[in-house]
Amino acid sequence: ISENVVYKSHNAFNRKAPIPVGAVQDIDRLYRARRELSNTLNSKRHAQSLMGERIRQAGKDVQAKNLALEEAKALKADVLQLGNQLSGIEDKLLSLALAVPNDTHPLAPLGPESAALELSTHGPDPIPSSPSRDHVSIAHALDLLDLESGATTTGSSWYYLVNEAALLEMALTNYGLSVAIKHGFTPVTTPDVVRSDIAKRCGFHPRDHATDPPVAQMYHLSGSADPSSSSHPELVLAGTAEIPLAGMFANKVFDVKQLPRKVVGLGRAFRAEAGARGADTRGLYRVHQFTKLELFAVTEAHKSEELMEELREIQVEIFDGLGLPFRVLDMPSEELGASAYRKYDMEAWMPGRGSWGEISSTSNCTDYQARRLHIRYRPNPPPSSDSEPPSPQSSGLPFAHTLNGTAVAVPRLIVALLENGARFNETGDVVGLSLPSVLKPFWLGNG
Ligand code: AMP
Repeated sequence: ISENVVYKSHNAFNRKAPIPVGAVQDIDRLYRARRELSNTLNSKRHAQSLMGERIRQAGKDVQAKNLALEEAKALKADVLQLGNQLSGIEDKLLSLALAVPNDTHPLAPLGPESAALELSTHGPDPIPSSPSRDHVSIAHALDLLDLESGATTTGSSWYYLVNEAALLEMALTNYGLSVAIKHGFTPVTTPDVVRSDIAKRCGFHPRDHATDPPVAQMYHLSGSADPSSSSHPELVLAGTAEIPLAGMFANKVFDVKQLPRKVVGLGRAFRAEAGARGADTRGLYRVHQFTKLELFAVTEAHKSEELMEELREIQVEIFDGLGLPFRVLDMPSEELGASAYRKYDMEAWMPGRGSWGEISSTSNCTDYQARRLHIRYRPNPPPSSDSEPPSPQSSGLPFAHTLNGTAVAVPRLIVALLENGARFNETGDVVGLSLPSVLKPFWLGNG
């Protein structure tokens, strides 16, 4: 067993990744079989490409011509059979590879959420927690949130933002966009419906197979559920703009001069949040749909760690500008999901909830998504072994690294702004809300 197989198995264990027993060894075996088969197939195809010339050269020599025709027939059958065998192996490899998580940064803490390491704290000192600062009662007092109509129209954990809260959503996203654009990110609006295959290649599993029976974590669109039909691929609602943003770069080969590619995508995120219960589902904290502004970047392999620090600085600038008390955490192995090599979460102090609440998450996915989506680049100078013309699937070109990070997740920021910014009179009634001045240029209403 190779060192790599041992590492991958250990790593999956450290991350509590639900991978099938023996999957890593099977991948190793299938990968070798695939390489061998693909070499044989290529040489048969090469021989096939020379047959036309041989038949022509046989000219009037009937015996030589018949021999060549026989050979061509046999080659055709071989190519067909090897092609079928290869695609069978590739299907198996892909489904196993989707179950194996990314490697883990050597400095990431090991263990569950409680093992997270605080890297820095920002903003003002946290104010004392108090039930009077609960965002739901503040929102009701100021007529900002209509949960009842959300429940009537759709169901629980669906909501309407009204009055200044609706304006706040727009001001927050435009503020976040302005910071991201200032740092060289290209603005993009994304499709919120994506092929489930693209979601899987990004490391999102539309159904959580760790549970029995499997629970849907993403919303599936009915009428599109026939995975066997290529003209009607299975579609899901995106849980984050990270998925359509990654999909935007699928099958691309970049020149190194074009990297890093930095985009900021505005999308609606849809979360089935199956199994979520308790205080988290109160009000806006954990909802089924929310507006989210996402930073996404594609970079050269050796530059992703540096770029992750850049994303972190941009996020700190955004949340510092909002005047929130918040902290940055280096997330431990069991919190990295399938795709992250390293993950930083940011948590704002929410005095009404009496706890820190996650407002953003940043992941360096290294080549996990790029391998599965075929995102590569031509390094400068090109590697000497690379004499064949590059094709996205088979060339020796390196895979890019991808990163993503939340710039603005609207509901959680509204929770933090309401709970930290509400103003009370002497008798304890909510009388107003102090909003950060950075939002002023983006405010559409009066005052
Ligand atoms: P994630 O993609 O799950 O890391 O989430 C990114 C950010 O979106 C989190 O840091 C939260 O701010 C926000 N978020 C995630 N899930 C929800 C939800 N169900 N409701 C509201 N905000 C959410």
